[in-house]
Amino acid sequence: MINSLFYNRLYEWYEMNHRVLPWRETEDAYRIWLSEVILQQTRVAQGMEYYMRFVARWPKVEDLAAADEADVLREWQGLGYYSRARNLHKAAQMVVESGKWKAEGFPNTFEALRALPGVGDYTAGAIASFAYNLPYPAVDGNVYRVVARLLDIDEAFDTTAGKKLFHKHIETLLDREHARMFNSAIMEFGALHCTPVLGDNCTVCPLQEFCLGYAHGTASLLPVRKPRPKVRDRWFTYHVYVQSDDVQGTKDIYTLIRRRENPKDIWYHLYEFPCEEHPSPVTCNPSPLTFTHTLSHQKLHARFLIHRVQKMPSVEGTLTIPWSALDDYALSRLTLRALDTMQLSLPN
Ligand code: SF4
Repeated sequence: MINSLFYNRLYEWYEMNHRVLPWRETEDAYRIWLSEVILQQTRVAQGMEYYMRFVARWPKVEDLAAADEADVLREWQGLGYYSRARNLHKAAQMVVESGKWKAEGFPNTFEALRALPGVGDYTAGAIASFAYNLPYPAVDGNVYRVVARLLDIDEAFDTTAGKKLFHKHIETLLDREHARMFNSAIMEFGALHCTPVLGDNCTVCPLQEFCLGYAHGTASLLPVRKPRPKVRDRWFTYHVYVQSDDVQGTKDIYTLIRRRENPKDIWYHLYEFPCEEHPSPVTCNPSPLTFTHTLSHQKLHARFLIHRVQKMPSVEGTLTIPWSALDDYALSRLTLRALDTMQLSLPN
């Protein structure tokens, strides 16, 4: 039975244990939104670095709206899921162009937040509660786990029916007058105490007497997920052309890159070396530079062939650039991984 003691215990735990994170110390909705988008699918330590850079470079939503998409992608490089960066930029432009939130600086209702590209129920609830203390839950993976265990729910939380069920329960759990505190505390509790692997945490848990999963001995089996979709394998050969003579009129070393142009495929608008995709594994003499790169639903098997050439071949859709300028382009994470290895031997 959830009562005021439950909330007191949770909030006391939060006061004593929470991490000091810059986006939890502000009520600036723009900054909270930036942090929430950056932290999707990203660890806090890594996200912190990106958050600080974004805030320093684009301190207000107007600054981000005025940026070039290429610069935003470039700043995002290494975080993956680049559609998040494109949506971030598009949403900033929508906020500024609409002119509706000039006084407030950022949308201030759940509905207006939810209407921004890339903002789902979780992110809208997080901004609405953290910035404005509005009574909306912010349900991330940590919250699903805590709630599944507290209420002993063995329904998968990532199906349509499961989401509905969890949301109904979370609505009743939400401390509506203190939504900012409640959401911060329960998320942090899931991140730091009611963790996927429980160890001895239940024995020293301030919420133990409220926890049905603990009472029934099911906590470590929860939450339940639906079976994972099958991962699709893809095979790529990348051609890394290196022109190291003086044909371009300078002593620099040149290479070819191209921008990915299919909005329905991975890494839209990111740059990479010219590439061929194969329908099945490539069996001919493998390059020493091979990588397996795992995305959420795809496993990429990539090999990078290095061609030292006197004259750059003509490859449709590519740009010839100095090797030293590669840093100026937003590159896919796979390309960055390959470059890390190649820089040891190239260019020289
Ligand atoms: S008793 Fe265990 S499972 Fe229940 S809330 Fe505490 S840590 Fe989580």
